[in-house]
Amino acid sequence: MIYADNAATTKMSDAAIDTLTRCMKETFGNPSSLYSIGQTAKEVLEKAREDVAGVIGAQPREIIFTSGGSEADNQALLTAAALGKKNGKKHIVSSAFEHHAVLHTLERLKKEGFEVTLVDVHENGIVRPEEVEKAIREDTCLVTIMYANNEIGTIQPIREIGAICRQKKVLFHTDAVQAIGHIPVNVEEDNIDMLSSSARKFHGPKGVGFLYVKKGIKAENLITGGAQERGKRAGTENVPGIAAMATALKEAASKLDENTVKLSAARDRLIAGLKTIPHSALNGDEHSRLPGNVNFCFEGIEGESLLLLLDDKGIEASSGSACTSGSLDPSHVLLAIGRVHDVAHGSLRLSIGETITDEECDYIIKSVGEVVEYLRGFSPVWRDLVSGKKQFIL
Ligand SMILES: *Cc1c(COP(=O)(O)O)cnc(C)c1O
Repeated sequence: MIYADNAATTKMSDAAIDTLTRCMKETFGNPSSLYSIGQTAKEVLEKAREDVAGVIGAQPREIIFTSGGSEADNQALLTAAALGKKNGKKHIVSSAFEHHAVLHTLERLKKEGFEVTLVDVHENGIVRPEEVEKAIREDTCLVTIMYANNEIGTIQPIREIGAICRQKKVLFHTDAVQAIGHIPVNVEEDNIDMLSSSARKFHGPKGVGFLYVKKGIKAENLITGGAQERGKRAGTENVPGIAAMATALKEAASKLDENTVKLSAARDRLIAGLKTIPHSALNGDEHSRLPGNVNFCFEGIEGESLLLLLDDKGIEASSGSACTSGSLDPSHVLLAIGRVHDVAHGSLRLSIGETITDEECDYIIKSVGEVVEYLRGFSPVWRDLVSGKKQFIL
C-alpha cells in the first residue's frame, strides 16, 4: 500500500505516539489544579507551548492551543472582524482558493455586513503581492492569504504580502496548515500577525492545533468558560494531544532539510513521469510548490473513478480536498486557477510522505498511465475529443 494523501492527513510519528501515551498514563492531571499531578501537567503544557513557539519564531505567550486548523482559522478571522467592527473597518482581503474554514467564515462575516475582496490566484496558483496592495482600502481590517494551498501545493509570497500589510497597518493572517513542518516559516521574518496550524498535517494527532496571535492583538474567544489559554479559549486543555503535537513539530523541524531534499526529488520524478501521459497538465506552479505535492488533470476522465481504480492497485490518493469529496462539484481551487469544469473533474492529487521510494514513484506513474488509458477507453467525453466533436484543452 502506498499512502499518498498526506495533505488530507498524516500518520502519527512513533515519537508523537510515545509522547501521547506517556502523557495519558503519567500526566493525567488537570493543568488548572494546584496539587502536584496538576502542576506536572501544567509544566508539560507550557513546555509544549515553548517548543511550538520556538519552531515558528514566536513567544510562548503568543500561542493559543485549539482543536485544529479550522478552529484557529475561525478564531483569527473573528478576532480581526471584532477589532475591525470597533474601528468602523469592515473590509477583508482574501483569495478564492482558501480552505473552506476561511471561505465559509468569510461568508458568515458577509452576512454581518463585511465586504470581502478575493484577489486572483492566476493560472499558476500564486497570489501577486501588488494585487493585494491594490485591494487594500481605508476600511480594510484584515488580509488573509494561505501559506501553501492544500490542493495544488503552491507556496504564496507571504513575506512580501506581510510587509505590505505592515506598511498599510492592516492585520495579516495566514492559514499555514500545509506549510508548518514542511517548509521554513518564521512569524517575525514573514511579517505575520496571526497564523493557523494543525498537528495532524505534520505527523501529530488529530483534533489539536494552534493559533499564533502577535503580542498586542486582543484575541477574540470563540469558546467562553474557564480562564484556560489566558482567557482566550475555555475548556481543559488536551494535554496529551498538545504535548504530542510539540513532539511531532520539533521532529519535523529537525528533519526539514533532509525531508525537503527527499520529497522534492520524488515529487519531480512523479511530475516528469505523469507529464508523459497525453493530454495531461500539472496544476499549479512547478517550482513554488510544497516538496510533497503533485496535482494533475487528465482530460476525458472522472477523478473519482481514477481514485477507485488506483486504490485497487494499492495507491491511496485524492482528487483534491477530502473535505469536498462526496460532492459532485469540481474543486473550487482548480476552478480558481482557471480550469474548466470538464477538465477540473479529472484531477489527481498525490501528497507523498517522507518514506516514498523511487520504485514506488515509478509504480505510481505506470499505474496512473494504465488507469487513465483504461478509463478513456469507455469515456464518451474522450470519444468526442478524439473524433473532433469537442476540442482538446490540454
Ligand atoms: C487541513 C486543513 C485545515 C483544517 O484543519 P483541521 O485540523 O482539520 O481543522 C485548514 N486549512 C488547511 C489549508 C488545511 O489543509
